[in-house]
Amino acid sequence: MSRTDVSEVKSSSHQTELYVGVPSTCLPIVYSPEYNITFMGLEKLHPFDAGKWGKVIHFLKEEQFITDETIVPAREASEEDLLVVHTRRYLSRLKWSLVVATITEIPPLIFLPNFLVQRKVLRPLRTQTGGTIMAGKLAMDRGWAINVGGGFHHCSSDKGGGFCAYADITLTIKFLFERVEGVSRATIIDLDAHQGNGHERDFLDDRRVYIMDAYNRYIYPGDGYAKRAIRRKVELDWGTEDIEYLQKVELHSEGALNEIRPDIVVYNAGTDILDGDPLGGLAISPQGVVKRDEIVFKAARSRGIPILMVTSGGYQKKTARVIADSILNLHRQGLIGEEVLDGAGPSTVPVMMSKSVSSGAAIGAM
Ligand SMILES: [Zn+2]
Repeated sequence: MSRTDVSEVKSSSHQTELYVGVPSTCLPIVYSPEYNITFMGLEKLHPFDAGKWGKVIHFLKEEQFITDETIVPAREASEEDLLVVHTRRYLSRLKWSLVVATITEIPPLIFLPNFLVQRKVLRPLRTQTGGTIMAGKLAMDRGWAINVGGGFHHCSSDKGGGFCAYADITLTIKFLFERVEGVSRATIIDLDAHQGNGHERDFLDDRRVYIMDAYNRYIYPGDGYAKRAIRRKVELDWGTEDIEYLQKVELHSEGALNEIRPDIVVYNAGTDILDGDPLGGLAISPQGVVKRDEIVFKAARSRGIPILMVTSGGYQKKTARVIADSILNLHRQGLIGEEVLDGAGPSTVPVMMSKSVSSGAAIGAM
């Protein structure tokens, strides 16, 4: 372990490659070229830009915010890592191309032998999943972290769907609970346009995890059973625009963190809220997305709570540019940066520590 590791790692049941020491010269931004799904043009049959993650990195390099040397290379989650949350039954089902075709909504996968499905589709998703788990640890060490992929919020321990084959959010939180000293409460702020029914099902009866979810109430998945896990539910109508949306995001992210102070915030920053998204049905502008991310980071960082962001859904042509612009804005606002603290605990934001934190509101008040 390198000396930049601030959080203390507990001994645990299995050896993982995901909690490795990261040099202090790296920013806590996790990515691998392996994230991108490309295979004989097959990816073009999907309504997704399956190369958006690489494009985000390209824009961030162009603006000289990062280089290949200053980001953290993601590692693939191993089967043992996945078993921290997933059932063996579920992982074996992924050995059927038909199952993967259904989960990822890429029908032609049915015709591919499973070894190719594994290599071309599931390995990228497992690498993104490893990236989220790594970023969870990094957020504890550095105060913030971004996985440029991940955010598979429709997948739960024994069921995938909506392009999500692995439950990276659940995995990340369970890894932290099991392995990092002092992490016993997490808050998920899920602002993808869809309801995050995967982590909701996984944490249904787990009071250690507080879930705020804002989504278009009329679209997939409409999972009423999973909704019982949401402590702050923000149901949006078709075509919701910036002003109303941002007011609600601010009110409820601040409210959520006032209600319960977690040890980590996992922020699912889906960009399918963007106007023109074929699936999301909301009408948020690019500047609205940038402002939204700023509001959430401010809410966590002003309280000194570590925050991990994953990029989740949103695959229009303009999406990668918007994500990159938002990360650059977080940097400009002083909400993320290079500061590394030597053993001083999770980093805080000096310029904006003035806000006092009220707590003690009734648990579950909505
Ligand atoms: Zn979505």
